[in-house]
Amino acid sequence: MAVLDVVLYPSDPLLSVARPVDAVTKKIANLAYDMFDTMDAHEGVGLAAPQVGVDKRLFVLNEPYTEQRMALVNPVILDEEGREEGEEGCLSLPQIYTNVPRAVRIRVEALDIEGRPMQFEAEGLLARIIQHELDHLNGLIFLDRVDVLTRQAKLQEWETIRDQISSALDRT
Ligand code: ZN
Repeated sequence: MAVLDVVLYPSDPLLSVARPVDAVTKKIANLAYDMFDTMDAHEGVGLAAPQVGVDKRLFVLNEPYTEQRMALVNPVILDEEGREEGEEGCLSLPQIYTNVPRAVRIRVEALDIEGRPMQFEAEGLLARIIQHELDHLNGLIFLDRVDVLTRQAKLQEWETIRDQISSALDRT
């Protein structure tokens, strides 16, 4: 178990479409456990493999209200319904928050950490987290889902914060 480094936007492989997981091996399961540790260390509600520098279709999540913890491998959204705005942030762009429109209810198919297929419905925050994390597997971030002016303003804000983070790292 280990806390991994989180890749900051826009470094690789955050902008690429991640590769499917061929087989859910022990190595993949261990990666998922490290991702849970990393997500918890940063008090996040979700973390995708590209955010720890791994080019694989896998993410973990922790829905805080129902305390549902899941690792989803090769996830696909089969169906979606409704639309609502909700605030999102991202461990790859810390301190940046904005409202993002997402489907309210989704139907999801994935493999679990033992390679067993699963299908379930999710709504509200759980559905929002899954949509946010699935975007990471397709090289997208939450700011790609908002209007162009908000996106520009938030990216500018992020540039300032990122500079502060890297100069703080330089001093250590
Ligand atoms: Zn994110």
